[in-house]
Amino acid sequence: MRYIEPHGHMVSRTTDDYQDMVTAGCAAVCEPAFWAGFDRSSVDGFHDYFCQLTDYEPKRAAKFGLPHFSWLCINPKESEDVALATDVIGLIPKFLDRPNVLGIGEIGLNKNSRNEMKVLEMHVDLAARNEQLILVHTPHLEDKLKGTRLILDVLRSDKRIRPERCIIDHVEEHTIQLVLDAGFWAGMTLYPESKCSPARAVDMLDLYSHERIWMNSACDWGVCIPLAVPRTALEMKRRGWPADLIDKVIYRNPIQFLSQCPKFKLP
Ligand SMILES: [Zn+2]
Repeated sequence: MRYIEPHGHMVSRTTDDYQDMVTAGCAAVCEPAFWAGFDRSSVDGFHDYFCQLTDYEPKRAAKFGLPHFSWLCINPKESEDVALATDVIGLIPKFLDRPNVLGIGEIGLNKNSRNEMKVLEMHVDLAARNEQLILVHTPHLEDKLKGTRLILDVLRSDKRIRPERCIIDHVEEHTIQLVLDAGFWAGMTLYPESKCSPARAVDMLDLYSHERIWMNSACDWGVCIPLAVPRTALEMKRRGWPADLIDKVIYRNPIQFLSQCPKFKLP
């Protein structure tokens, strides 16, 4: 088996996780900027985090033979403070030329607040001005449908944004069609406890589409399974999916999307 982990918060994971992923066939990992489990107290905290994502973590991954890519932003959970967000967004351009940076993400909404919307629009403008790919986090639980609609409206109202260059992550049964119909890519995030289980993800693949879709494990600092993608591939196999189609969803699809950034290259 070969697969891409297109959304993994590796700074939270151990070296054992890296070893397990590579052993299972992981060919590349992509790490969006995220909440650290606590609010950073200043713009300097983000500067150090962006250095970690673009310098230290790719070196750590390389020790296990795994190419590491990253996405940069201030995440929605910390974007309530618009002044701080403005400063953090001002930092990002000088990191965009780093060799492992693929785009702006994971931006989006958490509580669908007015300030989050403002910061989302600032990120979309930053991506458009710098011709960057976009990776979007959609809110969890009851805020998801409303938040997904708001996010799609923001992206569609900016004429510089091409939907095929944006992935809307954490889709569920009630949002996946909305995202695909509008021409965007959809990401399914696999969780061990709540939200999208491997069985639910394969149900969605059966029901909707295997085009413009990827799966990821998120694998952040909470309860996560870094091997969720290959485990879901086993569930697809158990249900009789042909090997070529499994390979498309877990390997060729993410490569198709990510290769829109010329810096995404596998050895
Ligand atoms: Zn994430």
